[in-house]
Amino acid sequence: MTGQQLTSLEEAIALLLERAEPVTDREIVPLAGSLGRVLAEDQHVPADVPPADNSGVDGYAVRASDLAAGHALAVSARIPAGQAPAAIEPGTAVRLFTGSEIPDGADAVVMQEHVEVTDAGIVIRTEVSAGQNIRRRGQDLRAGDVALARGSRIRPQEMGVLASLGAPRVPVWRRLRVAILNTGDELVDPGTALKPGQIYNSNRFTLLGLLAQAGCDVVLCETLRDTREATRATLVRAAAQADLIITSGGVSVGEEDHVRVVLEESGGLSLWRLAIKPGKPLAFGEMDGTPVLGLPGNPASVLVTFLMVGLPYLRKRQGVAAYRIRGEQLPAGFTVASTSVRREFVRARKERDGQQVTVAAYPNQSSGMLSSACWADGLAVVPEHTTVSPGDMITYYSFAELLG
Ligand code: AMP
Ligand code: MG
Repeated sequence: MTGQQLTSLEEAIALLLERAEPVTDREIVPLAGSLGRVLAEDQHVPADVPPADNSGVDGYAVRASDLAAGHALAVSARIPAGQAPAAIEPGTAVRLFTGSEIPDGADAVVMQEHVEVTDAGIVIRTEVSAGQNIRRRGQDLRAGDVALARGSRIRPQEMGVLASLGAPRVPVWRRLRVAILNTGDELVDPGTALKPGQIYNSNRFTLLGLLAQAGCDVVLCETLRDTREATRATLVRAAAQADLIITSGGVSVGEEDHVRVVLEESGGLSLWRLAIKPGKPLAFGEMDGTPVLGLPGNPASVLVTFLMVGLPYLRKRQGVAAYRIRGEQLPAGFTVASTSVRREFVRARKERDGQQVTVAAYPNQSSGMLSSACWADGLAVVPEHTTVSPGDMITYYSFAELLG
Protein backbone atom coordinates (compact mmCIF):
# COMPACT_ATOMS: atom_id res chain seq x y z
CA MET A 1 0.00 0.00 0.00
CA THR A 2 2.59 2.60 0.98
CA GLY A 3 4.69 1.77 -2.05
CA GLN A 4 7.54 4.01 -3.06
CA GLN A 5 6.06 4.32 -6.53
CA LEU A 6 4.66 7.68 -7.49
CA THR A 7 1.06 7.69 -8.65
CA SER A 8 0.22 9.86 -11.62
CA LEU A 9 -2.53 12.44 -11.31
CA GLU A 10 -4.59 10.66 -13.96
CA GLU A 11 -4.32 7.36 -12.15
CA ALA A 12 -5.29 8.87 -8.80
CA ILE A 13 -8.31 10.66 -10.32
CA ALA A 14 -9.41 7.48 -12.13
CA LEU A 15 -9.21 5.47 -8.91
CA LEU A 16 -11.14 8.11 -6.99
CA LEU A 17 -13.83 8.37 -9.67
CA GLU A 18 -14.24 4.59 -9.61
CA ARG A 19 -15.18 4.85 -5.97
CA ALA A 20 -17.26 8.03 -6.21
CA GLU A 21 -20.93 7.22 -5.57
CA PRO A 22 -23.17 10.12 -6.61
CA VAL A 23 -25.76 11.27 -4.06
CA THR A 24 -29.14 9.67 -4.68
CA ASP A 25 -31.47 11.89 -2.63
CA ARG A 26 -33.20 14.60 -4.55
CA GLU A 27 -35.08 17.65 -3.42
CA ILE A 28 -37.21 20.33 -5.00
CA VAL A 29 -35.93 23.86 -4.61
CA PRO A 30 -37.33 27.23 -5.69
CA LEU A 31 -35.73 28.37 -8.91
CA ALA A 32 -34.50 31.53 -7.20
CA GLY A 33 -32.44 29.40 -4.80
CA SER A 34 -31.10 26.94 -7.35
CA LEU A 35 -27.75 28.55 -8.15
CA GLY A 36 -24.91 26.03 -7.96
CA ARG A 37 -27.22 23.05 -7.55
CA VAL A 38 -27.18 20.02 -9.84
CA LEU A 39 -30.25 19.00 -11.84
CA ALA A 40 -31.64 15.63 -10.79
CA GLU A 41 -33.87 15.26 -13.88
CA ASP A 42 -33.77 16.20 -17.54
CA GLN A 43 -35.67 19.42 -18.07
CA HIS A 44 -37.97 19.09 -21.07
CA VAL A 45 -39.33 22.05 -22.97
CA PRO A 46 -43.13 22.14 -22.43
CA ALA A 47 -43.82 24.74 -25.14
CA ASP A 48 -41.78 26.53 -27.78
CA VAL A 49 -39.53 29.34 -26.58
CA PRO A 50 -40.27 31.98 -27.69
CA PRO A 51 -43.94 31.00 -27.88
CA ALA A 52 -44.63 33.09 -31.02
CA ASP A 53 -42.81 34.83 -33.86
CA ASN A 54 -41.79 38.24 -32.60
CA SER A 55 -39.88 41.28 -33.64
CA GLY A 56 -36.15 41.62 -33.09
CA VAL A 57 -36.26 45.41 -33.47
CA ASP A 58 -38.42 48.49 -33.00
CA GLY A 59 -40.08 49.13 -36.35
CA TYR A 60 -42.90 48.18 -38.66
CA ALA A 61 -44.33 44.81 -39.69
CA VAL A 62 -45.14 44.56 -43.38
CA ARG A 63 -45.85 42.08 -46.13
CA ALA A 64 -42.69 42.14 -48.21
CA SER A 65 -44.77 41.74 -51.38
CA ASP A 66 -46.68 44.98 -50.64
CA LEU A 67 -43.57 47.08 -51.00
CA ALA A 68 -42.91 49.12 -54.06
CA ALA A 69 -40.09 51.60 -53.76
CA GLY A 70 -41.19 55.05 -52.70
CA HIS A 71 -44.79 54.03 -51.98
CA ALA A 72 -46.25 55.01 -48.62
CA LEU A 73 -47.95 52.37 -46.46
CA ALA A 74 -50.62 53.48 -43.99
CA VAL A 75 -49.98 52.40 -40.40
CA SER A 76 -53.08 50.34 -39.55
CA ALA A 77 -52.27 49.13 -36.02
CA ARG A 78 -49.84 49.42 -33.11
CA ILE A 79 -48.74 46.42 -31.05
CA PRO A 80 -46.78 47.05 -27.88
CA ALA A 81 -44.92 43.99 -26.49
CA GLY A 82 -47.29 41.91 -24.39
CA GLN A 83 -50.35 42.35 -26.62
CA ALA A 84 -51.83 39.79 -28.96
CA PRO A 85 -51.96 41.23 -32.51
CA ALA A 86 -54.76 41.04 -35.05
CA ALA A 87 -53.85 39.96 -38.61
CA ILE A 88 -52.24 42.67 -40.74
CA GLU A 89 -54.48 44.43 -43.23
CA PRO A 90 -53.01 43.93 -46.71
CA GLY A 91 -51.28 47.00 -48.06
CA THR A 92 -50.56 48.50 -44.63
CA ALA A 93 -47.81 48.50 -42.02
CA VAL A 94 -48.14 47.72 -38.30
CA ARG A 95 -46.10 49.63 -35.74
CA LEU A 96 -44.33 47.28 -33.33
CA PHE A 97 -41.49 47.08 -30.87
CA THR A 98 -38.78 44.63 -29.88
CA GLY A 99 -40.56 41.53 -28.60
CA SER A 100 -43.97 42.43 -30.10
CA GLU A 101 -45.68 39.42 -31.66
CA ILE A 102 -45.79 39.45 -35.44
CA PRO A 103 -49.32 39.83 -36.79
CA ASP A 104 -50.58 37.01 -39.01
CA GLY A 105 -49.93 37.80 -42.65
CA ALA A 106 -46.86 39.99 -42.00
CA ASP A 107 -43.56 38.42 -43.07
CA ALA A 108 -40.92 41.06 -42.38
CA VAL A 109 -40.08 43.83 -39.96
CA VAL A 110 -38.41 47.03 -41.09
CA MET A 111 -36.29 48.85 -38.53
CA GLN A 112 -37.64 52.26 -37.66
CA GLU A 113 -34.27 53.76 -38.61
CA HIS A 114 -34.95 52.71 -42.24
CA VAL A 115 -38.38 54.28 -42.38
CA GLU A 116 -39.49 57.78 -43.14
CA VAL A 117 -42.77 58.76 -41.49
CA THR A 118 -44.92 60.96 -43.78
CA ASP A 119 -48.53 62.19 -43.64
CA ALA A 120 -49.50 59.46 -46.10
CA GLY A 121 -47.91 56.71 -44.03
CA ILE A 122 -44.42 55.24 -43.89
CA VAL A 123 -41.98 55.19 -46.77
CA ILE A 124 -39.35 52.46 -46.75
CA ARG A 125 -36.05 53.29 -48.35
CA THR A 126 -34.26 49.95 -48.08
CA GLU A 127 -34.54 46.49 -49.59
CA VAL A 128 -36.90 44.32 -47.59
CA SER A 129 -36.70 40.55 -47.70
CA ALA A 130 -39.24 38.13 -46.26
CA GLY A 131 -38.32 36.97 -42.76
CA GLN A 132 -36.06 39.86 -41.86
CA ASN A 133 -35.87 40.94 -38.21
CA ILE A 134 -38.29 38.20 -37.16
CA ARG A 135 -37.32 35.96 -34.23
CA ARG A 136 -39.04 32.69 -34.93
CA ARG A 137 -41.26 30.81 -32.56
CA GLY A 138 -39.20 28.00 -30.97
CA GLN A 139 -35.86 29.38 -32.17
CA ASP A 140 -34.47 29.26 -28.61
CA LEU A 141 -36.03 25.98 -27.47
CA ARG A 142 -38.44 23.57 -29.17
CA ALA A 143 -41.32 21.91 -27.35
CA GLY A 144 -40.35 18.34 -26.39
CA ASP A 145 -36.59 18.87 -26.51
CA VAL A 146 -34.39 18.46 -23.46
CA ALA A 147 -33.34 22.00 -22.55
CA LEU A 148 -31.00 20.96 -19.75
CA ALA A 149 -29.85 17.47 -18.93
CA ARG A 150 -29.79 15.79 -15.56
CA GLY A 151 -26.40 16.32 -14.00
CA SER A 152 -26.09 19.92 -15.25
CA ARG A 153 -24.79 22.40 -12.74
CA ILE A 154 -27.05 25.42 -12.52
CA ARG A 155 -25.31 28.68 -13.34
CA PRO A 156 -27.08 32.03 -13.77
CA GLN A 157 -27.77 31.25 -17.44
CA GLU A 158 -29.30 27.87 -16.55
CA MET A 159 -31.55 29.67 -14.04
CA GLY A 160 -32.72 31.94 -16.85
CA VAL A 161 -33.39 29.03 -19.21
CA LEU A 162 -35.31 27.17 -16.50
CA ALA A 163 -37.43 30.27 -15.98
CA SER A 164 -38.14 30.46 -19.71
CA LEU A 165 -39.56 26.92 -19.46
CA GLY A 166 -42.02 28.23 -16.88
CA ALA A 167 -40.73 26.13 -13.96
CA PRO A 168 -40.95 27.86 -10.54
CA ARG A 169 -39.17 24.96 -8.81
CA VAL A 170 -36.51 22.49 -9.93
CA PRO A 171 -35.52 18.98 -8.86
CA VAL A 172 -31.89 18.89 -7.73
CA TRP A 173 -29.60 16.48 -5.96
CA ARG A 174 -29.18 16.99 -2.25
CA ARG A 175 -26.12 19.00 -1.32
CA LEU A 176 -23.11 16.98 -0.28
CA ARG A 177 -22.41 17.14 3.46
CA VAL A 178 -18.73 17.49 4.10
CA ALA A 179 -16.68 17.44 7.31
CA ILE A 180 -13.35 19.27 7.49
CA LEU A 181 -10.80 17.91 9.93
CA ASN A 182 -7.44 19.65 10.20
CA THR A 183 -4.78 17.72 12.03
CA GLY A 184 -1.87 19.15 13.94
CA ASP A 185 -0.97 19.95 17.55
CA GLU A 186 0.63 23.14 16.27
CA LEU A 187 -2.65 24.59 14.98
CA VAL A 188 -4.65 27.32 16.64
CA ASP A 189 -7.56 29.29 15.28
CA PRO A 190 -7.26 32.94 14.33
CA GLY A 191 -8.23 35.11 17.29
CA THR A 192 -5.86 33.43 19.74
CA ALA A 193 -2.32 34.68 20.34
CA LEU A 194 0.32 32.24 19.09
CA LYS A 195 2.52 30.51 21.63
CA PRO A 196 5.94 29.27 20.63
CA GLY A 197 5.61 26.36 18.21
CA GLN A 198 2.11 27.25 17.14
CA ILE A 199 0.76 28.41 13.78
CA TYR A 200 -2.67 29.46 12.65
CA ASN A 201 -4.92 26.90 11.05
CA SER A 202 -5.19 28.28 7.54
CA ASN A 203 -6.22 25.08 5.78
CA ARG A 204 -9.52 25.14 7.59
CA PHE A 205 -10.44 28.43 5.97
CA THR A 206 -9.07 27.60 2.55
CA LEU A 207 -11.21 24.46 2.62
CA LEU A 208 -14.28 26.28 3.96
CA GLY A 209 -14.03 28.66 1.02
CA LEU A 210 -13.39 25.94 -1.54
CA LEU A 211 -16.30 23.83 -0.31
CA ALA A 212 -18.65 26.80 -0.20
CA GLN A 213 -17.70 27.67 -3.76
CA ALA A 214 -18.15 24.05 -4.78
CA GLY A 215 -21.69 24.10 -3.37
CA CYS A 216 -21.20 21.75 -0.40
CA ASP A 217 -22.60 21.99 3.12
CA VAL A 218 -19.86 21.88 5.73
CA VAL A 219 -21.46 20.00 8.63
CA LEU A 220 -18.46 19.75 10.92
CA CYS A 221 -15.16 21.56 11.09
CA GLU A 222 -12.65 20.62 13.75
CA THR A 223 -8.98 20.66 14.56
CA LEU A 224 -7.60 17.24 15.45
CA ARG A 225 -4.94 16.71 18.05
CA ASP A 226 -2.09 14.46 17.01
CA THR A 227 -3.14 11.37 18.92
CA ARG A 228 -4.56 8.19 17.56
CA GLU A 229 -7.50 8.26 19.99
CA ALA A 230 -8.56 11.83 19.19
CA THR A 231 -8.17 11.16 15.48
CA ARG A 232 -10.26 8.00 15.59
CA ALA A 233 -12.98 9.51 17.81
CA THR A 234 -13.38 12.58 15.62
CA LEU A 235 -13.36 10.59 12.39
CA VAL A 236 -16.11 8.38 13.82
CA ARG A 237 -18.17 11.40 14.83
CA ALA A 238 -17.65 13.04 11.44
CA ALA A 239 -18.57 9.84 9.63
CA ALA A 240 -21.97 9.81 11.36
CA GLN A 241 -22.86 13.23 9.92
CA ALA A 242 -21.03 13.63 6.65
CA ASP A 243 -21.09 12.18 3.13
CA LEU A 244 -17.41 12.96 2.85
CA ILE A 245 -14.63 13.76 5.29
CA ILE A 246 -11.75 15.91 4.11
CA THR A 247 -8.68 15.99 6.30
CA SER A 248 -5.52 18.02 5.99
CA GLY A 249 -2.16 16.87 7.28
CA GLY A 250 -1.29 13.70 9.10
CA VAL A 251 -1.06 11.45 6.07
CA SER A 252 2.70 11.27 5.63
CA VAL A 253 4.64 8.31 6.89
CA GLY A 254 5.88 9.93 10.11
CA GLU A 255 4.84 8.63 13.50
CA GLU A 256 2.71 11.73 14.09
CA ASP A 257 0.61 10.95 11.04
CA HIS A 258 -2.41 9.50 12.79
CA VAL A 259 -4.98 9.95 10.04
CA ARG A 260 -3.02 7.47 7.96
CA VAL A 261 -2.75 5.01 10.84
CA VAL A 262 -6.43 5.19 11.81
CA LEU A 263 -7.56 4.81 8.21
CA GLU A 264 -5.24 1.88 7.76
CA GLU A 265 -6.93 0.21 10.72
CA SER A 266 -10.41 0.92 9.42
CA GLY A 267 -9.51 -0.74 6.15
CA GLY A 268 -9.38 0.09 2.46
CA LEU A 269 -6.80 2.84 2.68
CA SER A 270 -5.05 3.96 -0.47
CA LEU A 271 -2.06 6.13 0.20
CA TRP A 272 -0.48 7.69 -2.80
CA ARG A 273 2.67 9.59 -3.35
CA LEU A 274 1.19 11.74 -6.06
CA ALA A 275 3.46 12.66 -8.91
CA ILE A 276 2.49 16.29 -8.61
CA LYS A 277 4.12 19.23 -6.97
CA PRO A 278 3.00 20.56 -4.62
CA GLY A 279 0.86 17.74 -3.41
CA LYS A 280 2.18 14.41 -2.34
CA PRO A 281 1.00 12.59 -0.21
CA LEU A 282 -2.70 11.92 -0.67
CA ALA A 283 -4.84 9.38 1.16
CA PHE A 284 -8.23 7.94 0.37
CA GLY A 285 -10.01 5.65 2.77
CA GLU A 286 -13.18 5.06 4.70
CA MET A 287 -14.46 5.47 8.22
CA ASP A 288 -17.66 3.57 9.03
CA GLY A 289 -18.60 3.63 5.35
CA THR A 290 -17.95 7.35 4.86
CA PRO A 291 -15.20 8.17 2.37
CA VAL A 292 -12.24 10.13 3.70
CA LEU A 293 -10.05 12.21 1.44
CA GLY A 294 -6.77 12.89 3.17
CA LEU A 295 -5.03 15.96 1.77
CA PRO A 296 -1.47 16.94 2.59
CA GLY A 297 -0.83 19.49 5.32
CA ASN A 298 1.05 22.19 3.49
CA PRO A 299 -1.30 25.06 2.65
CA ALA A 300 -0.47 25.34 -1.04
CA SER A 301 -0.65 21.56 -1.39
CA VAL A 302 -4.15 21.63 0.08
CA LEU A 303 -5.27 24.12 -2.53
CA VAL A 304 -3.68 22.28 -5.44
CA THR A 305 -4.73 18.75 -4.45
CA PHE A 306 -8.26 19.88 -3.67
CA LEU A 307 -8.60 21.57 -7.06
CA MET A 308 -6.84 18.99 -9.19
CA VAL A 309 -7.80 15.72 -7.46
CA GLY A 310 -10.57 16.46 -4.96
CA LEU A 311 -12.87 18.41 -7.26
CA PRO A 312 -13.36 15.81 -9.99
CA TYR A 313 -14.28 13.35 -7.25
CA LEU A 314 -16.54 15.85 -5.49
CA ARG A 315 -18.33 16.81 -8.70
CA LYS A 316 -19.15 13.19 -9.46
CA ARG A 317 -20.48 12.69 -5.94
CA GLN A 318 -22.64 15.80 -6.33
CA GLY A 319 -24.27 14.20 -9.36
CA VAL A 320 -22.52 16.36 -11.95
CA ALA A 321 -22.61 14.45 -15.23
CA ALA A 322 -19.65 15.95 -17.01
CA TYR A 323 -16.95 17.77 -15.13
CA ARG A 324 -14.40 18.65 -17.74
CA ILE A 325 -11.54 21.01 -17.32
CA ARG A 326 -10.14 22.22 -20.59
CA GLY A 327 -7.55 24.68 -19.48
CA GLU A 328 -5.96 27.02 -21.98
CA GLN A 329 -2.83 26.73 -24.05
CA LEU A 330 -0.82 29.89 -23.59
CA PRO A 331 2.78 30.97 -23.98
CA ALA A 332 4.78 30.92 -20.78
CA GLY A 333 6.24 34.15 -19.52
CA PHE A 334 8.64 32.41 -17.14
CA THR A 335 11.43 29.89 -16.95
CA VAL A 336 11.28 26.68 -14.91
CA ALA A 337 13.72 23.87 -15.44
CA SER A 338 12.09 20.77 -14.00
CA THR A 339 14.28 17.80 -13.33
CA SER A 340 11.45 16.23 -11.38
CA VAL A 341 9.29 13.21 -12.19
CA ARG A 342 6.47 15.20 -10.62
CA ARG A 343 4.24 17.44 -12.68
CA GLU A 344 4.37 20.88 -11.23
CA PHE A 345 1.33 23.12 -10.73
CA VAL A 346 2.67 26.60 -10.55
CA ARG A 347 0.70 29.44 -9.02
CA ALA A 348 0.30 31.73 -11.99
CA ARG A 349 -1.75 34.35 -13.72
CA LYS A 350 -2.30 35.71 -17.19
CA GLU A 351 -0.62 38.94 -18.08
CA ARG A 352 -1.14 41.07 -21.15
CA ASP A 353 1.64 42.95 -22.87
CA GLY A 354 0.15 44.76 -25.83
CA GLN A 355 -1.41 42.06 -28.04
CA GLN A 356 0.41 39.23 -26.34
CA VAL A 357 -1.02 37.26 -23.40
CA THR A 358 1.47 35.22 -21.41
CA VAL A 359 1.33 33.24 -18.20
CA ALA A 360 3.38 34.69 -15.36
CA ALA A 361 4.45 32.52 -12.43
CA TYR A 362 4.90 33.65 -8.86
CA PRO A 363 8.64 33.59 -8.11
CA ASN A 364 8.44 31.56 -4.90
CA GLN A 365 6.55 28.28 -5.31
CA SER A 366 7.16 26.81 -1.84
CA SER A 367 4.30 24.52 -0.82
CA GLY A 368 4.19 26.28 2.54
CA MET A 369 3.45 29.63 0.90
CA LEU A 370 -0.17 30.39 0.34
CA SER A 371 0.12 34.13 -0.30
CA SER A 372 1.36 33.28 -3.79
CA ALA A 373 -2.07 31.82 -4.52
CA CYS A 374 -3.64 35.21 -3.76
CA TRP A 375 -1.36 36.85 -6.29
CA ALA A 376 -2.32 34.09 -8.74
CA ASP A 377 -5.54 33.56 -10.74
CA GLY A 378 -4.81 29.95 -11.59
CA LEU A 379 -2.31 27.15 -11.99
CA ALA A 380 0.13 26.64 -14.83
CA VAL A 381 1.47 23.20 -15.61
CA VAL A 382 5.17 22.44 -15.86
CA PRO A 383 5.33 18.90 -17.26
CA GLU A 384 7.62 16.27 -15.80
CA HIS A 385 11.30 16.58 -16.78
CA THR A 386 10.67 19.67 -18.87
CA THR A 387 12.29 23.01 -19.12
CA VAL A 388 9.75 25.70 -19.76
CA SER A 389 11.15 28.84 -21.33
CA PRO A 390 9.41 32.09 -22.22
CA GLY A 391 7.21 31.57 -25.30
CA ASP A 392 6.77 27.81 -24.80
CA MET A 393 3.12 26.77 -24.91
CA ILE A 394 1.87 25.52 -21.56
CA THR A 395 -1.48 24.59 -20.02
CA TYR A 396 -3.07 27.08 -17.69
CA TYR A 397 -6.09 26.35 -15.50
CA SER A 398 -7.82 29.39 -14.05
CA PHE A 399 -9.29 29.10 -10.57
CA ALA A 400 -12.52 30.36 -12.12
CA GLU A 401 -12.64 27.44 -14.55
CA LEU A 402 -11.67 24.88 -11.93
CA LEU A 403 -14.41 26.01 -9.58
CA GLY A 404 -16.92 27.14 -12.22
P1 AMP B 1 1.76 17.44 8.00
O1 AMP B 1 1.33 16.80 6.73
O2 AMP B 1 0.74 17.27 9.08
O3 AMP B 1 3.13 17.03 8.41
O4 AMP B 1 1.85 19.00 7.70
C1 AMP B 1 2.77 19.52 6.75
C2 AMP B 1 3.02 20.99 6.98
O5 AMP B 1 1.80 21.73 6.83
C3 AMP B 1 3.51 21.34 8.37
O6 AMP B 1 4.42 22.39 8.27
C4 AMP B 1 2.26 21.80 9.08
O7 AMP B 1 2.55 22.66 10.15
C5 AMP B 1 1.53 22.50 7.98
N1 AMP B 1 0.10 22.44 8.25
C6 AMP B 1 -0.59 21.32 8.48
N2 AMP B 1 -1.88 21.59 8.69
C7 AMP B 1 -2.01 22.93 8.58
C8 AMP B 1 -3.13 23.83 8.70
N3 AMP B 1 -4.35 23.36 8.95
N4 AMP B 1 -2.91 25.13 8.51
C9 AMP B 1 -1.68 25.59 8.23
N5 AMP B 1 -0.58 24.80 8.11
C10 AMP B 1 -0.74 23.48 8.28
MG1 MG C 1 0.86 17.36 11.12
